[in-house]
Amino acid sequence: PSPSLADYYAEQAAQAPDNLDAFWLPFTANKAFKARPRLLASASGMYYTDIEGRQILDACAGLWCVNAGHARPRIVEAIRQQVGTLDFAPNFAMASPLPFKLAERLAELAPVDLNHVFFTNSGSESVDSAMKIALAYHRVRGQGQRTRFIGREKAYHGVGFGGISVGGLPNNRKWFGPGLPGVDHLRHTLDLERNAFSKGLPVHGVEWAEELERLITLHDASTIAAVIIEPISGSAGVILPPQGYLQRIRQLCDKHGVLLIFDEVITGFGRVGKAFASQRFGVTPDLMTTAKGLTNGCVPMGAVLVSDGIFETFMQGPDNVIDLFHGYTYSGHPLACAAALATLDTYAEENLFEKAIELGDYWQAGLHSLKGLPHVVDVRNFGLIGAVEFAPRPDAHPGARGFEAFTRAFNEGQMLTRITGDVLALSPPLIVEKAHIDRIFNTLAEIIPKLD
Ligand code: PLP
Repeated sequence: PSPSLADYYAEQAAQAPDNLDAFWLPFTANKAFKARPRLLASASGMYYTDIEGRQILDACAGLWCVNAGHARPRIVEAIRQQVGTLDFAPNFAMASPLPFKLAERLAELAPVDLNHVFFTNSGSESVDSAMKIALAYHRVRGQGQRTRFIGREKAYHGVGFGGISVGGLPNNRKWFGPGLPGVDHLRHTLDLERNAFSKGLPVHGVEWAEELERLITLHDASTIAAVIIEPISGSAGVILPPQGYLQRIRQLCDKHGVLLIFDEVITGFGRVGKAFASQRFGVTPDLMTTAKGLTNGCVPMGAVLVSDGIFETFMQGPDNVIDLFHGYTYSGHPLACAAALATLDTYAEENLFEKAIELGDYWQAGLHSLKGLPHVVDVRNFGLIGAVEFAPRPDAHPGARGFEAFTRAFNEGQMLTRITGDVLALSPPLIVEKAHIDRIFNTLAEIIPKLD
């Protein structure tokens, strides 16, 4: 590190907790982090404050979840009141009124037909729940041989065994055995040769949807339960669907009686200018997974939205028999429901779902101003999502340059970004203003030329 960085780390280390040993950080190089920790102390609006008192601009909504900005009073108050009123209620053959209210609100927001909600505690649980619902649905209607799933390369569907099996990130899969049997993968849709520096959805690549027909033919449609797709993949490095691709996937699923699951954990709740990406793209899935922005990140919660047709199929059995043998102790937790209801109110009052369209051109122009800077091989954007891809360093491990960009943005630019390999991802809270957008891209324009 440069001398200024060394000073910074020395000061920060002085204020760190005495012992960083016990907490095993997820998805982190723990030894490196603990040698040079980055510790956040508080948050408000667009900013974090770290333990030294430095203000850090949040350019990625925490982890793609704080869509309404930090510490919003309505949400804080709703959680505070709820915990003192009803702290926990079992939802197994019992319930509180809260998840009913929330489910109704979600059904109103969701694409037509997705009128039933199964609550979880995370995106990973939503994905595994959606996969189990798909399997059980086919079985209930006498097609129990439909057990295969089709995911995609480079997809991220969380870290459950279902999610890593249909996911397509080698590092998330290779340590953990063979995963679910009967899973196949479509090609990813990243194409730097034809689509680099596209503005919005890339023009080339709709033909990759035809791979689905090939896989369905290979395995026979009668064996396939569902296809799972992120309308825009975020955690894998912001990969956009080519124009017409999602529409073609929907047609092929319909043709073969295969369910379509959209994983909207990142794209949900206004990230792309509508409540859900499905509405922005005009493609309605049969099941939709959500989490993150559902509670503005305040309390862990996820949800699977299920079509009328699927739900009704489960309701055909005897009245006194459990219709789905699945659920979590904390499904529909009162605190999470209270946080989610207050979050949805905040989104509606402030028209936050429209911000990604209102600011989309400004965001795109800022991002594309980085084209031509050293090492930048692509920038990608849609709604209030952006990514800068760097050429990997030839002399270091993959991701080294991306990680340097992330640390420089944090240390020198006082800005939190997210990194996947050599792709730096941006997804600011939807309360972002033009001045913040200017700062985000000016900061990147300053640090990128310094990268090794
Ligand atoms: N699905 C997608 C598309 C995601 O982006 C993520 C998280 O980033 C997940 C699932 C997993 O969510 P969680 O980390 O809440 O389990």
